[in-house]
Amino acid sequence: MTISRDDLLAYCDGLLNVGAFTDYAPNGLQVEGRTDIGRIVSGVTASQALLDAAVDFKADALLVHHGYFWKGEDARITGMKRRRLATLLAHEINLIAYHLPLDGHPELGNNAQWARALGLGELQGFIGKPGAEIGVRGVFAEPVAGEELAQRLEVLLGRPVLHVAGQSGLIRTVGLCSGGAQGYIGEAAALGLDAYLTGEVSEHTVHVAREMGLHFYACGHHATERFGVRALGEHLAVRFGLTHNFVDIDNPA
Ligand SMILES: [Zn+2]
Repeated sequence: MTISRDDLLAYCDGLLNVGAFTDYAPNGLQVEGRTDIGRIVSGVTASQALLDAAVDFKADALLVHHGYFWKGEDARITGMKRRRLATLLAHEINLIAYHLPLDGHPELGNNAQWARALGLGELQGFIGKPGAEIGVRGVFAEPVAGEELAQRLEVLLGRPVLHVAGQSGLIRTVGLCSGGAQGYIGEAAALGLDAYLTGEVSEHTVHVAREMGLHFYACGHHATERFGVRALGEHLAVRFGLTHNFVDIDNPA
């Protein structure tokens, strides 16, 4: 089956409530390819390796969380950027990117998917504008020790996790926000959550965690952002009868 590019984009923009988010890059179609889409490759970042995988798969569209044209970046199309765009244009592959809307979606989002995979319940939005939150907070029906949660995260994500121990012996309430969201640890502390989970860590995040007393976990930017784009690709495949392949280009960061 195929669907027209415009119909697919209209569906995704609506599903992800794109208009509600203020973002750092354009959401939706970033580079135009062919008009009909039957084969989709999804992945976290539109790197050259992912583009090459999309070419091999004969994809009509590449669906990513991290696309191009970030605010503040050098606008010139040279070097690495020229090669990436040349690949897309030569093979008429549409580049479709969803960033913050794909962090925050209550069903398909990085954080909702991550929270469910961890076994958290009573999920609600957290961080950001009401109705356009990017993170999720939830509750463990059976509280877990800090070390046990670290082990659970390492098994789930398949990579080492950095854990700064907090004051609560058992963790019941958790806030999480994928990627480089360590700057929001104060929001989790202000809500009195037992733990905050994100992808990256900064030097000062450790001091905030120690002094505010909550458990902090840095679980990998890439590792925590594989959930949403994969879930969206699978959803589109089922909904429109498309062929979809999630490609994980490993990234230790
Ligand atoms: Zn990210």
